[in-house]
Amino acid sequence: MRGPTIYLDHAATAPLRPEVVDAMLPVLRDGWGNPSSAHAVGRAAREVLDAARERIASALGATPREVVLTSGGTESINLAVKGAAWAGSARGHRVVISAVEHHAVEGSAHHLERHGFEVVVVPVDRYGRVDPEDVEAAITDRTAVVSVMTANNEVGTIQHVREIADVVHRHRGVLFHTDAVQAAPWLPLDVDALGVDLLSIAGHKLGGPKGVGALYVRRGSNIVAQQHGGGQERYRRAGTEDVAYAVGLATALDLATAERATVAPRVAALRDRLASAVLGDGVTLTGHPTERLPNNLSVIVAGAEGGTVTTMLDLEGVACSTGSACATGTADVSHVLTAMGYPEDEARGAVRLSLGRSTTDAEVDRAADLLRDAIGRARDAAVEAVVER
Ligand code: PLP
Repeated sequence: MRGPTIYLDHAATAPLRPEVVDAMLPVLRDGWGNPSSAHAVGRAAREVLDAARERIASALGATPREVVLTSGGTESINLAVKGAAWAGSARGHRVVISAVEHHAVEGSAHHLERHGFEVVVVPVDRYGRVDPEDVEAAITDRTAVVSVMTANNEVGTIQHVREIADVVHRHRGVLFHTDAVQAAPWLPLDVDALGVDLLSIAGHKLGGPKGVGALYVRRGSNIVAQQHGGGQERYRRAGTEDVAYAVGLATALDLATAERATVAPRVAALRDRLASAVLGDGVTLTGHPTERLPNNLSVIVAGAEGGTVTTMLDLEGVACSTGSACATGTADVSHVLTAMGYPEDEARGAVRLSLGRSTTDAEVDRAADLLRDAIGRARDAAVEAVVER
């Protein structure tokens, strides 16, 4: 009989943590004032918002003024990439991104391209790694912004963010953004240690609510607002702030920061246990073998469609994906895997299992059994499909 769902898709979204719900509920119930209102109700909301912003800033090693609250990862990234590009457009219309960025970065860059910017895409190696020297080669005196993610959402590869930041900053006036949406639960994110000018995070990958995120903007770095209206967020993001969601993000980030040193190695050990149970026999790891997010196991299954494997697993009560949740349901092959040099037919065998802080040994062992079985059946289905043709 099918047991409770084994959730191995934390890279898509993580369950909302009860501590976060507990922190948000009183604000939703009683702290509904508009933080921009001058009266006591507004001032009370402002106080709660300021405290949440301070906690978010402190978790990033930033100051509260450097934190812009947004509606999530996508908005933070759009504001960073487009905002920095437009702010730097007097200098030049060149934007540099890596070949494995999330669609939020890619889409922002392509939007800029339609508005006259030149977009340069830096390649990656077979592990999905960007070489800082390639970033250096892509920057000219016309470059406004460079965006390279901290860690990849599909294959988990961690980039050399500090080295890339140093390379970018050899060129005065160029801003460096990193999409740390996937990295935030797992890697320490001190903005000075990373050397970044702009950094994006999202609440829901951390066990916080969806619909809230933050953009770190280093003091002195100019960005042009992408949303116009009131003067909230120091004129960088118009719109009444969601105080309860800011508290949710602050709580989730605080918890992740406090627990990271114990949770990350435990989850990595579970991930390794799952890896040793499923790798081999035509199932190969994608992404960097060691420098990868501790919760990510991404594989290619030879001779099967990843989508068939994940559908079969879903029927057995295991939730996982073929790659980016945003691309699920489209016929597109992962641009990340093709950039890493995988031919399209191989890339179609991609399966991503992403563990979380609540994943157990028993779940991993059961998932490994079900995965092996699903792979066998998916391969049979692929052979039958060929015979029928
Ligand atoms: N960047 C990365 C690396 C992601 O994994 C995601 C979410 O899947 C995003 C950006 C977008 O974040 P959000 O879903 O909060 O808009």
